[in-house]
Amino acid sequence: MKSHLNVNFFTEFIRKEVLTDLRLEDLKYWISRFGFYDLIRPVGKDSYGNLSFRAEPGKNEFVITATKEDFHDEKLTPTRFVKVVHCDINNNKVRVHGLENPSRDTFLHYLIYKNRPDINAVFHGHCDRLDCEPGLNFVTTEKEQPWGSVELAREVEKVLGKENFIIMRNHGFLALGKNIDDAGKTTLRAYQKCFQ
Ligand SMILES: [Zn+2]
Repeated sequence: MKSHLNVNFFTEFIRKEVLTDLRLEDLKYWISRFGFYDLIRPVGKDSYGNLSFRAEPGKNEFVITATKEDFHDEKLTPTRFVKVVHCDINNNKVRVHGLENPSRDTFLHYLIYKNRPDINAVFHGHCDRLDCEPGLNFVTTEKEQPWGSVELAREVEKVLGKENFIIMRNHGFLALGKNIDDAGKTTLRAYQKCFQ
């Protein structure tokens, strides 16, 4: 087993394999919708959105897009998805099945699954208007934190409660769902509220 230094954590590849989960097709559908609505535009250097789903009920394992995923259709092969089977925030380590490093926001997704057993899909995207529009009254994190940081994940944890749509201050949004479709529909509801 080999470890790779990511910006935020070490990735230990437990199994070097291409994922075959059938739900990848559902996730890819919503990634394409996100592209259509321009919700996965890059912010800063290499910061795209990231989408995940819980692999099994009752476990905090999840399948997430790989890091530096730029979501061009031709690149959305199964190799661009990674199953995270263990997260150790204190020691900055994750264990995965897959071929690539998982999204740098992996700890953020992990803490949501850990805190919210009712949630089985987490989508993160960027949309300036959703983030800044006053009067929409979306739950918003208190402090701005660097994307991909544990501090950002902890900031989200503070406002998570039972919320299913959260703005990360000056960065982007999180849509949570009981399944993949639900997280997608939560996103579109917020989007329509903003652009109606
Ligand atoms: Zn982001």
